[in-house]
Amino acid sequence: MRPEVTRTCQSCGMPMNLEGDFGTEADGALSNDYCTHCYQNGAFTAPEITIEEMAKICGAIISQIYTIPPEVAEEFSKEQLSCLRRWAGEEIAICGSCGMPLRRDEDAGTEADGSLSAEYCTYCYRDGQFTEPDLTREQAIAKYAPMMASSLGMPNEKAEEMVRQYLGTLPRWQE
Ligand SMILES: [Zn+2]
Ligand SMILES: [Zn+2]
Repeated sequence: MRPEVTRTCQSCGMPMNLEGDFGTEADGALSNDYCTHCYQNGAFTAPEITIEEMAKICGAIISQIYTIPPEVAEEFSKEQLSCLRRWAGEEIAICGSCGMPLRRDEDAGTEADGSLSAEYCTYCYRDGQFTEPDLTREQAIAKYAPMMASSLGMPNEKAEEMVRQYLGTLPRWQE
């Protein structure tokens, strides 16, 4: 029952690729929504945890991996967590090209018939096509990494690593 694309744990945001990454339901089936660290036998492993506490834990991890100042990493984690089903109450779709949350109608791209895209944001996708159809994954990394580096106060090469990892979870860039 492995999904075709990488799923993101809807509690902690961890990408789930391998069967062992997924949590389990009470009947032993793999959870489609939560990772093995967050969810086992149909229940959260830490049922009382708050989004602030989760942001502290996730922030500390990314702060260390990507050398982001701890407070900035925590704030960034909280923002990311706030799109996940466990904290938002529903799963908020993210753009399959750049990862931007599609929180409101204005955030969504448009299909050729003018309807809103459920998959891509308005910056990446308009009138049924990508705004930069020839953009490669490497070019996307080169484009987004400096923005991440400056908004999170991290070195550019760490930002590249982070963006590379992140884009690998998005449908447009799956290999
Ligand atoms: Zn998780
Ligand atoms: Zn986008």
